[in-house]
Amino acid sequence: MAGEPGKFKDQLASVYEYCFVETVPYAFFKPNPTRDIAVNLRAKEYRCPVCGKVTRVAYRYHGDTYFSKGKLAEQRRTYDALGLDFPTMGEIASGVPFVNEAIGTCASCAEKQFGRAEEPAQRAVNLAEQLHCADALVVAAAKQAMEASLARWLAAADAETIQQFDVSTMEKMRDLICAIMLADTAGVQEALTEYRAVVHHGKEECARLLTELPAVFTAQVGRSTHAPESMSDTVYHEYTVAFAAAEAPREVFYFPRRIEKQRLEMFLEQPRLTTLAELFSEVGFHGEWLEIFSTRLGALTA
Ligand SMILES: [Zn+2]
Repeated sequence: MAGEPGKFKDQLASVYEYCFVETVPYAFFKPNPTRDIAVNLRAKEYRCPVCGKVTRVAYRYHGDTYFSKGKLAEQRRTYDALGLDFPTMGEIASGVPFVNEAIGTCASCAEKQFGRAEEPAQRAVNLAEQLHCADALVVAAAKQAMEASLARWLAAADAETIQQFDVSTMEKMRDLICAIMLADTAGVQEALTEYRAVVHHGKEECARLLTELPAVFTAQVGRSTHAPESMSDTVYHEYTVAFAAAEAPREVFYFPRRIEKQRLEMFLEQPRLTTLAELFSEVGFHGEWLEIFSTRLGALTA
C-alpha cells in the first residue's frame, strides 16, 4: 500500500472537470470599474422546469463578487424568463443582497428525461459520467473490502494468534495489517474486475459514439451545487468565484453545455488503474485501521 494514494483519482477528477465543469482558466484579476460589477452575491437558486423543485444554495460570504457584464446580462435574462424582478443597477451598486438564478433539471427528473437517451451526444456524456462515478467508486469499494478482510482476520484471531506477531511498534502493526489485507484479496479483486468491465465498456462505447459527433456538441451535463463558479466570462479568481456554504444542500442539476470532443477523448484516454497493486496503492493506508487493530488487541490481551 506504498505509493501515492489517490494518484489516479485526482488526475481523473481534474480531467473530468476540465471536460465538463470548468469553463474559464485561473488568471490574475484586478477589478476594473468600467468592466466589472461588484455584487453582494449571497446565494443561488436552482429551479427545475420539470417538477418545479427549488433548491436554494447559500454562498460562503467573502465580500463582493465581481461579475462581468456578460454574466450579469445572463442573470437578467434568467430573471426575465422566470418572471422575477431584476434589481436596478442602483440597487446592485448600493449592495442589496443578490441571488443568482438558474433553470436546471433536477437529478431525479434528469434520470427520467435523459438518463436512457439513445441520441449519441447525450449517450456519450452519460457514459462519461458513469465512468467518472466508477473511477471514484472502485477506490471506495476496495477500501471497504480491505477493511472487511482485516475484520475477518481479527474476528478469527485469539490471544495466541496475536502472540505469533511482533506488534510492539506502530510500524510493525502497520506491516501486519498490510500483510493481512494482501493475504485476503478476493473482495478487492472483485471490485477491480467489475471496474475494469465498466471502464472497458464505457470507453469503447463512448469512443464509438464520438465518431458520430462533431468537434463541439451540446448535451445535458450534471453540475454539483457545490462546484465553485466564476461570475466572469473570462477568468476564475478569488474576486469572481462563488463557493457554496459548507452546510448548503449538495445536489446535482443538469444544464445544456457545449462539449469539446477533444476534451472528452482526453478524459477517456486517461490512464486508469488496472492491477491489484495499483488499486492497493490508490487506497493507501488509513490511520483508523491502527485503531481498529489496537482495540481488538487490547480486548484479546486484557
Ligand atoms: Zn425536477
